[in-house]
Amino acid sequence: MIKVCKFGGTSMSDGTNFRRVAEIIDRDPERRFIVVSAPGKRFGNDSKVTDLLYGAQETLEKGGDFHAAFTKVRDRFTGIVREIGLSFDIDSLLDECEREIQSERSGDFTASRGEYLAARVMAELLGAPFIDARDVVRFHADGKLNGKETFFLVKEALKGKRRAVVAGFYGADSDGKVKTFSRGGSDVSGAIVARAAGADLYENWTDVSGFLACDPRIVENPARIPALSYQELRELSYMGANVLHSESIFPVREANIPIRIKNTFRPDDEGTDILPVEKYRFSGQTVTGIAGKRHFTVIHLEKSLMNAEIGFTYRVLQVLLKYGVSFEHMPSGIDTMSFIIDSSLLDGGIKEKLCADVKEAVSPDNMRVFDDIALIAVVGHGMSRNVGTSARLFSAIASAGVNVRMIDQGSSELNIIVGVDGEDYGRTVRAVYREFFEEE
Ligand code: ADP
Ligand code: ASP
Ligand code: MG
Repeated sequence: MIKVCKFGGTSMSDGTNFRRVAEIIDRDPERRFIVVSAPGKRFGNDSKVTDLLYGAQETLEKGGDFHAAFTKVRDRFTGIVREIGLSFDIDSLLDECEREIQSERSGDFTASRGEYLAARVMAELLGAPFIDARDVVRFHADGKLNGKETFFLVKEALKGKRRAVVAGFYGADSDGKVKTFSRGGSDVSGAIVARAAGADLYENWTDVSGFLACDPRIVENPARIPALSYQELRELSYMGANVLHSESIFPVREANIPIRIKNTFRPDDEGTDILPVEKYRFSGQTVTGIAGKRHFTVIHLEKSLMNAEIGFTYRVLQVLLKYGVSFEHMPSGIDTMSFIIDSSLLDGGIKEKLCADVKEAVSPDNMRVFDDIALIAVVGHGMSRNVGTSARLFSAIASAGVNVRMIDQGSSELNIIVGVDGEDYGRTVRAVYREFFEEE
């Protein structure tokens, strides 16, 4: 049995935690291939190394004191090596990184050094070979992962090795220039290595005991989800449950490799298994989990006989295409239609121009735009099995005194998405949680 283990930022935050991670790995000989993140926060208002690196890059670009900015990163790593008690020349490696950052002048390269250095130190601690993701993880020119080449290269690099440490979060394009995934992307790196290694299990080690039924920063001590399907994971992580990057299922799903979320700080806790739907056993729970994201804009259009106007939607979509704007949801009625868009895509005056173009393209009777909308996703295979789920959901939200701005139910009946005003976000999540997890 082969296990690939990814350790997140909090698990790598200081020397004691590096040792804790090494102990977890040593405890199970099946834990063969290790993917690490950059050191994260040690305490509440500490900085993640990746954020320090983005800060240093900004200083460099603005012609400020880069050396001073990089010293914060240097101190984290020298501290870690000292605490572990490793006789490893981290200073030379840091000097080299500092020089390379100045010559490469690429934000992605700079950001990637946190994972690079963490993996070098972890490899040293474990006495295992280090694999540079720059040599094995490949991106296409359009920024998408080149899965075929990547799986081949990673597989070749792992061949014949009993153990190895791979740096998370980055790879390179076909010219060898370093490119990172989006934030939290070491989860994707772990999934890539799991797939390439032909792993039986992808263990994702973090700072919570599994995937929880909702964000623990909103509801205190939410229930753990013992198991969820790949589809449920995709819905929940895409909609803001960022315990796992929403793209991390793609590499493992093709090979049916289960993911297990585990807590580095409570390694004996059970965690959560994420499984292909065929292996998934219905828990009896109507709702599996709740997730949400803030900062959406709703463009609401009304027009009599919209349903009979051929090409109405097409013309609106042409405007979105013109501005390169994607939309998240498009709930519609007979004479109404709304587009829910991530507000950051409409910054810099795009919203006003786009709305003017939509007006011209389809001449709506009425057009309203709502900003600061929060979307809440209520997800679970159990929802289609239980009659009356939406009634329960909406009466719980109404009882909390919240006005629902938008509803969208996926055709798979796997999720219901509710849009509310941003200020009602926490209140809504708590009300839905209470309804489906405390009163069921
Ligand atoms: P890592 O650095 O290990 O990758 P992350 O910070 O990316 O860890 O993810 C873990 C965090 O995700 C938790 O500490 C928690 O605050 C947050 N989180 C948000 N939603 C959930 C959820 N539904 N279940 C568990 N954790 C969640
Ligand atoms: N270190 C990167 C970040 O902070 C990647 C990761 O932690 O997964 O986003
Ligand atoms: Mg993460």
